[in-house]
Amino acid sequence: AAVQPQAVRTRTAELRDHARTLTPGGVHSNVRLAGPSVFFERGEGAWLYDVDGNGYVDYLLGQGPNFLGHASTRVNDAVARESRRGTIFGGQHVLENEAGELFLDTVGWAERVRFGLTGTEADQVALRLARAATGRTKFVRFEGTYHGWLDNVLVTAVDGKTAPASKGQLAHHLDDTYFLPFNDVDAVAATLSAHDDVAAVIVEPVMCNSAAIMPRDGYLQQLRRLCDRHGIVLIFDEVITGFRLALGGAAERFGVTPDLAVYGKAMAGGWPVSALAGSAALMDMFGGEVNHSGTFNSSVPACAAVIAALTTLREDPPYTRVEDHGMKLMAGIRELALRYDVPMRIQGLPMAFHVSFGDPSPIHDHSGLARLDLTRYAAFAQNLVSHGVWVAPRGIWYVSSAHGDRELAAALERFEAALATGA
Ligand code: PMP
Repeated sequence: AAVQPQAVRTRTAELRDHARTLTPGGVHSNVRLAGPSVFFERGEGAWLYDVDGNGYVDYLLGQGPNFLGHASTRVNDAVARESRRGTIFGGQHVLENEAGELFLDTVGWAERVRFGLTGTEADQVALRLARAATGRTKFVRFEGTYHGWLDNVLVTAVDGKTAPASKGQLAHHLDDTYFLPFNDVDAVAATLSAHDDVAAVIVEPVMCNSAAIMPRDGYLQQLRRLCDRHGIVLIFDEVITGFRLALGGAAERFGVTPDLAVYGKAMAGGWPVSALAGSAALMDMFGGEVNHSGTFNSSVPACAAVIAALTTLREDPPYTRVEDHGMKLMAGIRELALRYDVPMRIQGLPMAFHVSFGDPSPIHDHSGLARLDLTRYAAFAQNLVSHGVWVAPRGIWYVSSAHGDRELAAALERFEAALATGA
C-alpha cells in the first residue's frame, strides 16, 4: 500500500497548545480527551479536512449526528433561511408544529414529542416523567450503557462494580438505580419481583456504548412484557439508534414499542436537537404537573434542521445504502485482519459497529468486554487517524448516507497501510 501517514500537523499542534491555555485539556467535552487532538477546518460529505490540509474518511460522524454526512446543503440552507426571521421567541412558532408532526409521523408509534438540545437532558426528563407517572423512585438500567454525564447516570466500573465516573459526583445519586447485566431477562424478572419501587427500565436497544452489543432474539420483547406486567415505564434510549437503524429507529427494527423514547444525534443533520417522545397519556403530564423546560428548546434553527433532515431521510431513505457500505467495510476489515494475522473482532450493525482486538466470539453483556483488548485498539485508532481515517479510540464506527465506493476504497487502503505499520 502506497498510503503514507499524514504526518504534518504543525498548525494543529499550534492550535492545540493555544487551546490548552483557554480550555481545560484543550477540549470542550471530556470525551474528546481520549481521542487524538486534531483541529479540523471543515467537513464535506463523508470527509473531514484538518487545518494542515490532511483529509480523513470520517467514521465517527461527530459521535453520530452527521448521519447525512457533513454540511448537508439542504439542512444548512433551511437553518440559514428560517433563522433570518429570528431564532427564539419565548413563545411558539409555526415550524414547531411542522417539525413535531413530521417527527411523530416518522417515529411511527409515539403521540407526543418534546424537543430539547442534548441526549443527556432528554434522558433525565424521561426518568422524571416515569417517576411522576408511577409514583415510584427507582429505575433499572444495564451495565455498559450510557445515558449522559449527570450524577445519577454517569458510571464506570471499579473492580467490576459500578461506581461514579467523576470526582465531584454525588455517589448516592446512583442509589436509585438497579444495575443489571444486559441480555439477561431473568435478572430483570427477579429484580422486578423483589422490588416494587421501580418506575422505569431504561435501555439502549443496541448497546452502542458498549462494543455495539446486540439484544438477543426476543430480549426487548421480554423487557416489554415484564414492564407491562409490573406497570413499569419502558424507556428506549434511542440517542444513537434513532433514525439510524431505520426511520423508526430500534423500535421499528426490533418491532418493540416503548412507552417513552429519547432521541438525539441523527435526527437533525448535525444540529443540536434531542427529543423525548411517548404516549399522550404520559407526555401530557408535561402540560402541568411535571416540569420540562429549556430556553433554547424548539428554536427556529432546531426545527428547521429537524424538518430538513427528516424530509431528506423520508424522501430518499439511505438505509439500504448505509447497510451495504457498512457490510462491505466490516467484511473488508475482517479480511485485512486475517491477511495481517491480527486478532480483530467486529460486531454490531453495519450502520454502527464496534472494532477491537481480542477473542472474536460475540459478546452479549458488558462483562464480555474483559475479553477485548481495548487498549491495543485505542493505540491502533491513533494509527488509523494518522493514516487519514477518523475514528474513535473506543472502537465505535458510524456509517453515513454520504459514504460510497470511493470512501470504502480509501478507508480500506488506509486501514491496510496502518496495519502494515503494526497493530
Ligand atoms: N444516550 C446515549 C445512548 C448516548 O449515546 C448519548 C451520547 N453519546 C447520550 C445519551 C447523551 O447525549 P448527549 O451527548 O447529546 O448529551
